[in-house]
Amino acid sequence: IQSKLPNVGTTIFTTMSQLAAQTGAINLSQGFPDFDGPQALREAVGRHVMAGHNQYAPMTGLPALREQVAQKIARSYGRQVDMDSEITITPGATEAIFCAVQALVRPGDEVIVFDPCYDSYEPSVELAGGRCVHVPLALPDFSIDWQRLADALSPRTRLIILNSPHNPSGALISRSELDQLARLIRGFDIYLISDEVYEHLVYDGVQHASVLAHEELYARACVVSSFGKTYHVTGWKTGYVVAPPALSMELRKVHQFVTFCGVTPLQGALADYMAAHPGHVDELPAFYQAKRDLFCDLLKGSRFTFSRSPGTYFQLADYSAIRADLDDVEMSLWLTREHGVATIPVSVFYQTPPAGLRLVRFCFAKREETLRQAAEKLCRV
Ligand code: PMP
Ligand code: GLN
Repeated sequence: IQSKLPNVGTTIFTTMSQLAAQTGAINLSQGFPDFDGPQALREAVGRHVMAGHNQYAPMTGLPALREQVAQKIARSYGRQVDMDSEITITPGATEAIFCAVQALVRPGDEVIVFDPCYDSYEPSVELAGGRCVHVPLALPDFSIDWQRLADALSPRTRLIILNSPHNPSGALISRSELDQLARLIRGFDIYLISDEVYEHLVYDGVQHASVLAHEELYARACVVSSFGKTYHVTGWKTGYVVAPPALSMELRKVHQFVTFCGVTPLQGALADYMAAHPGHVDELPAFYQAKRDLFCDLLKGSRFTFSRSPGTYFQLADYSAIRADLDDVEMSLWLTREHGVATIPVSVFYQTPPAGLRLVRFCFAKREETLRQAAEKLCRV
């Protein structure tokens, strides 16, 4: 068969999680918590199942959940969105991104992505017949290189995909950078997908600068989030996309033929939990910052070098002082097999990795004992 995605293999997340399972290594690779979501949330699923909420949800998502999302957006970002014409519940942020890309990108269009970039973007663009133009973020802090972005724009640019807080680096896009982006693309027919799945995982007292709070950018944007990250239930694969009515209408045309709707009892449970615990999202930064700080404090006893991640549940670390002779894929395999800690190499998120990149990504969404055990091993490397 002539593959439509000849460059796509098994994702690094599957590869590393499998290797961790085979070798018995502590799995700090694929991003997911090793603790459960809130008990009340999990119990609510059972209630909805037993109450007979087991048939198709509306194509756009359960009204009760869209209402909660609208209220959260109003509280967090001060924007009133219309739950009927602007919010669509999807089976995961991944499906939201895929549908938005299919709705917006035409054959021959160019899509700007920032490297290192999340691995689902490029295949989605390729299946739509578009082409990704990769703009590397500036090292060491993974900030937008404005000159390179300006150079990458062309008459064929149709879409820019933003991701803040950024996977894998944790870097944040600031409000003034959003302003700068708005100035740069003013007058051009360019859309945005803003992947904000880690919107509530931002540390050190910093406020997440959401495209939802930016009038000018929101007018051309699909803003994507994931309940999986926010409620510690990545396996529920439930997310949402917020976009102005005309854009929502287009992406819903795709969504209704990719899956039609998300899982009904999960949506019901999330709506109940959000209504009862509106403060959950406000407690998340402190909850995860304590994990980041514990892990980083313990890692100070190792030969890894790092600066603390500003957001997400990922921490990058440079291993030049340990095994500069290994590239990061070799290093991740070596750490997993020989030292019992599985990580993600950063170069796999690049089209062209910077020469000499010596970074691995650790997921710190783990119980304290897991982080302690992993750090103990890492300090012996
Ligand atoms: N975007 C980014 C940057 C992610 O890290 C993830 C997590 N897998 C996703 C999208 C997908 O989220 P979901 O599991 O809800 O599809
Ligand atoms: N987003 C998760 C990560 O970055 C993985 C998601 C997946 O396995 N597809 O680790």
